[in-house]
Amino acid sequence: MTSHHLVPSATVDPAKLDRLAEVAVRVGLNLQPGQDLLLTAPVAALPLVRRIAEHAYRAGAGLVTPFLADEEVALARYRHAPDASFDRAAGWLYEGMARAFSQNTARLAIVGDNPMLLSGEDPQKVARANKANSLAYKPALEKIAGFDINWNIVAYPGASWARQVFPDDAEAAAVGKLAEAIFSASRVDGDDPVAAWADHNRALAVRRDWLNGERFSALRFTGPGTDLTVGLADGHEWQGGASTAKNGVVCNANIPTEEVFTTPHALRVEGHVSSTKPLSYQGTLIDGIAVRFEAGRIVEARAARGEEVLAKVLDTDEGARRLGEVALVPHSSPISKSGILFYNTLFDENASCHIALGQCYAKCFVGGDRLAPDRIAAQGGNSSLIHIDWMIGSGEIDIDGVRPDGSRVPVFRKGEWA
Ligand code: ZN
Ligand code: ZN
Repeated sequence: MTSHHLVPSATVDPAKLDRLAEVAVRVGLNLQPGQDLLLTAPVAALPLVRRIAEHAYRAGAGLVTPFLADEEVALARYRHAPDASFDRAAGWLYEGMARAFSQNTARLAIVGDNPMLLSGEDPQKVARANKANSLAYKPALEKIAGFDINWNIVAYPGASWARQVFPDDAEAAAVGKLAEAIFSASRVDGDDPVAAWADHNRALAVRRDWLNGERFSALRFTGPGTDLTVGLADGHEWQGGASTAKNGVVCNANIPTEEVFTTPHALRVEGHVSSTKPLSYQGTLIDGIAVRFEAGRIVEARAARGEEVLAKVLDTDEGARRLGEVALVPHSSPISKSGILFYNTLFDENASCHIALGQCYAKCFVGGDRLAPDRIAAQGGNSSLIHIDWMIGSGEIDIDGVRPDGSRVPVFRKGEWA
């Protein structure tokens, strides 16, 4: 038996929750007067949904349309739905979302449910349902990944997620701790979070602009279990902090964010790399990953835990064995310092340098907004149904930028900007 909290837990500070809603609307989305908003959230996050709806309407939103998902409903499907249904998805819903995005509707996703929800279910069914979902969602996802519109992801401390992160605490205490960790990482624990985000965006822009000025042809990562050369895509562009969507709105897609990131060349990654933190992937923990790349492709993959699931992920499609993102995050980032494993990429990827298997971001190319998919592929951009970030940074990692003439520039030393 589990219960969902439809009012904020007594341990979630209502003032900070309200500030998080305000930051999601004003900084994350930068919602424009008259703009519609499509919002997805777990039922557990309803207190934040309500605060966001109020801030959105006060900012002049046209229509705010929420879609809620429930853990019990999801589990009922895995236990009782007919087998053939696991190859289907609610395509009509995703088509509607894609249509809304093409009419300039902004998108906000709240994460907050149990990352291990499906860990006890049949992995074949989970994989089939995920694949059907990814295929059906693709037209909508392309508009998000291509930044057609302003969008944002933000987190709410759902009770089942909090119990996973703080298993030794009573539920109320766990929710309180996760809430404070989210508020602090999302920079809403000060008096003026909108100003704090302006400062943070400026700091990320300095790193981003330096890397764009250097135009490295590759990055070389060295550390325990790692000697990896990541060739960068031709005409790659570093991103970080706020970005401008194609509809002209400057938004912060992820709250929190600590990374500057770009597109690797799908054919130019060589060497071996070890993960430095566990990866929570659809209910399974994959830990102790060690892979070897040849000509951009993973040719050997091991994991101390979850190796079978990792193998399945790599077999999703041809692009699943190649990189779609490389991101730099200092070891001293606030999320890393918290020492908390969130089991959620939105947070965990901001604790460490990481690479992602699968789909690249068009935004990470110079003039990427106007590049056709075949141009992106010709410049080294990878394509896949998946995009899975995993952490390779630590206090021991060194990174060199490699110039086209082969000379090297220190970028990171011992996990920090050099
Ligand atoms: Zn990333
Ligand atoms: Zn990523």
